[in-house]
Amino acid sequence: MRSDDTIFALSSGRPPAAIAVVRVSGPRAGAALEKLIGRVPEPRQATLARVRDAAAGEAIDEALVLWFPAPRSETGEDTAELQLHGGHAVIAAVLDALGRIEGCRPAEAGEFTRRAFENGRLDLTAVEGLADLIAAETPAQRRQAFRQLKGLIGDRAEAWRRALIEAQALVEASIDFSDEADVPANLADAALHAAQQLRSEIAAALADGGRGERLRDGLVVAIAGPPNAGKSTLLNRLARREAAIVSPYPGTTRDVIEVHFDLGGYPVTLLDTAGIRDSSDPVEQEGVRRARAGAAAADLVLWVTDASAAGGAVNDSDKNLFKSDVWSIENKIDLAVEKLCIKCESGSAILSPITFSISAATGAGTDALVTALAAFAQNYFSATEPALVTRARHRRALEDTVAALDRALAERSSGREELIAEELRAAATTLGRLTGRVDVEDILDVIFRDFCIGK
Ligand code: GDP
Repeated sequence: MRSDDTIFALSSGRPPAAIAVVRVSGPRAGAALEKLIGRVPEPRQATLARVRDAAAGEAIDEALVLWFPAPRSETGEDTAELQLHGGHAVIAAVLDALGRIEGCRPAEAGEFTRRAFENGRLDLTAVEGLADLIAAETPAQRRQAFRQLKGLIGDRAEAWRRALIEAQALVEASIDFSDEADVPANLADAALHAAQQLRSEIAAALADGGRGERLRDGLVVAIAGPPNAGKSTLLNRLARREAAIVSPYPGTTRDVIEVHFDLGGYPVTLLDTAGIRDSSDPVEQEGVRRARAGAAAADLVLWVTDASAAGGAVNDSDKNLFKSDVWSIENKIDLAVEKLCIKCESGSAILSPITFSISAATGAGTDALVTALAAFAQNYFSATEPALVTRARHRRALEDTVAALDRALAERSSGREELIAEELRAAATTLGRLTGRVDVEDILDVIFRDFCIGK
């Protein structure tokens, strides 16, 4: 794929719709407009125009057309945007007419955004923020994605990188001019002081408990417990749809089932796991192993038992396995009415420990559980500062930066300035990879792969 091709795509959602937006970007975008509407409109002004298929000699539609000459466009190239009537045939005719213009071809997935990155309109963290904004399902995810698109982490990383380059220059000056009398002797000290300062700022950004990543992926709540306790029924009740197989036969859920949902604006991923018990069936054993692994990695475990049957409480070895809180859920209280718990009827948010008596089948007590889960999510995500780190990629880059700074600082006493300069350079490079300023070819495909065509 040549990067000097002019690309086009339908950038709006699935037709039919009231309006469809077709975008064209590249050196032939102006020529494409000449062909389609007979002129190039005033920059950045909506213009009503008849769109024609020159080859067929007929009008296709009347559209609002926008013209954004380079470099002040989203991609940094000449860009045209046509707001058409959003019918299948209209869109097909316009895309067809564009495809017949020399130098124009359909865009690959993410190609508009990739060009914006390559032309310096967005840094990599902003590209990721844009992908997250498109994928956001809850208000909290939308806010985080928008902050990232607008440079929350990118601008900080760039400021840190500049400060590191300055520190590195100080050390190099100290090396180069060490023989000259009028160079202050403490240049390297000043650089290390700055490095120490940056190290604490970056470490503080890393010490966020993984909130940003969790907000992207959802807080993980695992439903676990013995077979037949009503775990799948509870999942369905909470997710308000039939996502998991509910069956009266123990051992039906053999794999982990995931449901994503919005709890008070926060994303929560609910896992339904296989019933945990000893079994000689190898398939069930594997299910139990996955159930334990899922619950062990979760942020919260809902341990479901059958209130009408004896036993089933979580044992100590499982409890130690789980890194998170475990809430006891006594299910089937409709069968064990005498156990009905007043806590569930209060409807108040309960944050700590924590037994709920519910009937997943009738819904009794589940409102209180949902309220408590929403409070748990809110408590988890609430913080005065928004999280900077939203992906493992950011975390790795910042951890590598801290490690390089630590190596630089460790050379303070040795006074080996070449090594200090080298480590400061390494730290600046890892930050440069974060924003995409230095050799990131290898990660670009991974990042742009997630985009749709037309973005
Ligand atoms: P799992 O193996 O823990 O996932 O359990 P299921 O959700 O498949 O439920 C096992 C059986 O218990 C099914 O027959 C459900 O209909 C029944 N069940 C689940 N919750 C309740 C409940 O609250 N009350 C009653 N009476 N039956 C329930």
